Amino acid sequence: MTAVSNPRRTPLFRLITVASSGMGSFILGLWGLRFGFGDGLAGMPAETMAGVIAALCALSAGGAALSFFAGIDESADYVFKETHFDKLTGLLSRPAMVGRIAAAASDTIRTGEPVYLIDIDIDRFKQINDAIGYSLGDELIRAFTKRLRDNMPEGAVIGRIGAGEFAVLLPDREIRGSLERSLDKLINQMMEPYQLQTHLQSVSMSVGIVAMPKDGVDPVLILRRSNLALQNARASGIGNWSVFHADMGRVADYRQWIESELKAAFDRGDFNLHYQPQFDLPSGRVVGYEALIRWKHPERGMIPPMEFIPIAEETGMINPIGEWVLRKACSDAQYLPEDCFVAVNISPVQFMTKDFVGIVRETMASTGIKPSRLELEVTETAMMQDRDRAAVILQQLADMGISVAVDDFGTGYSNLSYLIDFSFGKLKIDRSFVSRIDTDASSGAVVSTIVGLSRALGVGIIAEGVETENQATLLRAAGCEVVQGYLFGRPAPLKIELGEARAAYGAREPARLVSLQ
Ligand code: C2E
Ligand code: CA
Ligand code: CA
Repeated sequence: MTAVSNPRRTPLFRLITVASSGMGSFILGLWGLRFGFGDGLAGMPAETMAGVIAALCALSAGGAALSFFAGIDESADYVFKETHFDKLTGLLSRPAMVGRIAAAASDTIRTGEPVYLIDIDIDRFKQINDAIGYSLGDELIRAFTKRLRDNMPEGAVIGRIGAGEFAVLLPDREIRGSLERSLDKLINQMMEPYQLQTHLQSVSMSVGIVAMPKDGVDPVLILRRSNLALQNARASGIGNWSVFHADMGRVADYRQWIESELKAAFDRGDFNLHYQPQFDLPSGRVVGYEALIRWKHPERGMIPPMEFIPIAEETGMINPIGEWVLRKACSDAQYLPEDCFVAVNISPVQFMTKDFVGIVRETMASTGIKPSRLELEVTETAMMQDRDRAAVILQQLADMGISVAVDDFGTGYSNLSYLIDFSFGKLKIDRSFVSRIDTDASSGAVVSTIVGLSRALGVGIIAEGVETENQATLLRAAGCEVVQGYLFGRPAPLKIELGEARAAYGAREPARLVSLQ
């Protein structure tokens, strides 16, 4: 370890300092003695006395000077270690990484060899940390670091630049094969579950890349740009990477705007729910309604959930918003036909919140909804974050009589063993399979397999995103009888018809449905 900017002193410099402080003390002692006592004291000549005192002064001054410099060295080492290395992982810290980026930038200007800065961030690390506790959170970070080191070439410089964020400087010559392939491989390896003391923890991550000198050489700018690329990767789904390009700044500004607006929007009451019917093909009946959130901003108009839900999840705003959705949907259920249930989307962040089940229980009690009329849509990703905890939550919900549908089924994890451990009531086939069912034979095969799986597990099945008659026919042929999609009804606000609602105020029965606009 070399400390270029430390206040170290050479031995010669120390010697001069110690000698001059000794000399100074001697002269000062002599002068003080003569001034105070004249030529002699208690029979001892003033010179002898002065010599003794001055020697003592020189000794203590020398000692003080030595310990001062030793102290500086120690504290310099201490400060250096504190600021240059991350205590938890031993990786370089953020300020040290800035220094390394600056050094790499000057190299790349000199040699012309590109150097990549790779920004790696564990998705929603803060929420994971809150859910599993800080000590297991630390264990996860250490395990992640070890695997990152193992998967990086020798010449890579690795730093930890945020709670769950890492930066890697990688010169072009260190990359074997294509950068794209290396990144895909890295992400796959890093997203394999981590064995912690108490459980197997899954994580997803996002990666942003900038190339020096092409995308700049200023360390602060380079870090900002790699983070923009990372945000872009995160917005496009789980386990993605993205390379910086110039208009990412605009996207980032928009995300920033959403982040700053969410709280005000919530307080202002900008949010509303739309409902989309779920249709039973054989009987031709609507069996349930999925509640889908809508944000109508007073100036910008409608903002799609795919644009603000991920940001609400990152900032934690999803908790109050999700709680509001649950309460509103449970309360709106009184306006829906009695034999219909209401399906509510639950974000992974909400699902893993400490008192999620308590919130559901309280909402049911205060709105009076029957458990059989409430369904929760939870994605595989949410369940896989902490399998043991998820299994407990699902069991508690099942004990309360609430059905859980596995949302976006088929797009998450390939390991299906979790299906055996979990209590849930339904698989919801993702739209991506449905949209290709009539053009792509393998999508048809996937759908038939999922239907077979649901039968083997004894759970219900529904397909989402059905847009054409042909898709509906093929789904039914494959054994999927409940469907949802634009073909059967778009999401629409609940319209409480004034006449009926007014009549209902005086009646004992609650107001009946109504219609979707
Ligand atoms: P999702 O749970 O997969 O919801 C289905 C999405 O597909 C909805 O988009 C719906 O409007 C759309 N859709 C329905 N039928 C069709 C169709 O036939 N074709 C096509 N192309 N699309 C169809 P939406 O409302 O924009 O919601 C998008 C996502 O946002 C939802 O995906 C869900 O993940 C999330 N979301 C929506 N509302 C909530 C909420 O209240 N809480 C949470 N946590 N997430 C929500
Ligand atoms: Ca859904
Ligand atoms: Ca979906």
